[in-house]
Amino acid sequence: MQTSEQTTSEAAQSAWSKRPLIISGPCSAETEEQVLATAQRLAATGKIDMLRAGIWKPRTKPGMFEGVGAKGLPWLQQAKKLTGLPTTVEVATGKQVEDALTFDVDVLWIGARTTVNPFSVQEVADALRGVNVPVLIKNPINPDLELWTGAVERIARAGVKQIGLIHRGFSSYGNTEYRNAPMWHMAIEMKLKHPGMLLINDPSHICGRRDILLEVMQKAIDLDYDGLMIESHIDPDNAWSDAKQQVTPERLKEMLDTIIWRKEDVNSEEYHAALEKLRQQINHLDDEMMQILSQRMKIAEQIGKYKKENNITILQTGRWNEILERASAKGEKIGLSKEFITRYLDAIHMESINHQKKVLDS
Ligand code: PEP
Ligand code: MN
Repeated sequence: MQTSEQTTSEAAQSAWSKRPLIISGPCSAETEEQVLATAQRLAATGKIDMLRAGIWKPRTKPGMFEGVGAKGLPWLQQAKKLTGLPTTVEVATGKQVEDALTFDVDVLWIGARTTVNPFSVQEVADALRGVNVPVLIKNPINPDLELWTGAVERIARAGVKQIGLIHRGFSSYGNTEYRNAPMWHMAIEMKLKHPGMLLINDPSHICGRRDILLEVMQKAIDLDYDGLMIESHIDPDNAWSDAKQQVTPERLKEMLDTIIWRKEDVNSEEYHAALEKLRQQINHLDDEMMQILSQRMKIAEQIGKYKKENNITILQTGRWNEILERASAKGEKIGLSKEFITRYLDAIHMESINHQKKVLDS
């Protein structure tokens, strides 16, 4: 087993600090030939920094292909030897951590179904104690940032220094567009909570289909993600798992060539001056909006006083529906989405109720 004296491979270290970091490989290792051919064709694109393959597959239903198991690990070792690319696999138990490290896997990842289970995450963390290997942690299948953070903390407490996040979307009933709803704000919030931590997007498991992959990849890059993990297979339609979402190495290269890569900043005085001016305008408008909101709350308090004197309830659904309808009709005319108007008014309504409640209780 690898110990803390042994350092992670140089290839893995340089991949970890590369931006954007591109990880690709099949959903599952199926045969030695498939792993080696995929690895070589991916390496030939010149666009890939790390190879992925599922060795142990957590499947929704029994009887589905559950991965080839430890016998696939030497195939990955061989793929690394042939291409020079570092490797990553999913681990869910202490034994899997041990096996993966025995076969020189460079980076481990924790899958979405494992992140939800503190017992499993703790078992993986315990197996990582004293081991110097980077770990990527996928979001849990349910949109729970505390659970995701909890997994990060368990792995960090085991002494793991290099931890990254993979955003693979969230399970939701009846969603037909995505296999897993991206809920971008969850990943953004996670990044704000863990500044400096690598954030990778996994468009394959978000989309569950090939035709919208590029759109999601571009959005991740627009949002300043540090990298992408995309599934690639030499014969996607006949893949043993996740066939619909995989693309050939050559198609992946095409997509990576199509993406408009954006940077966080640019060294241009003109750009910074223009941006500064617009940001000042935004600050000014934000101040004004707050003043207006404060005035609105004062009026709500006056209403609260009348309600108190006349013993009337705070919540009046009829009036509230009238406000909503009026505002969304107006909002739509000036370019504000109905969804935004509803969320915005809900927040104002809650604050307004709190102000009135204080008056009623006084
Ligand atoms: C995978 O990466 O193939 C996988 C099983 O992903 P997730 O844990 O996101 O479902
Ligand atoms: Mn998969």
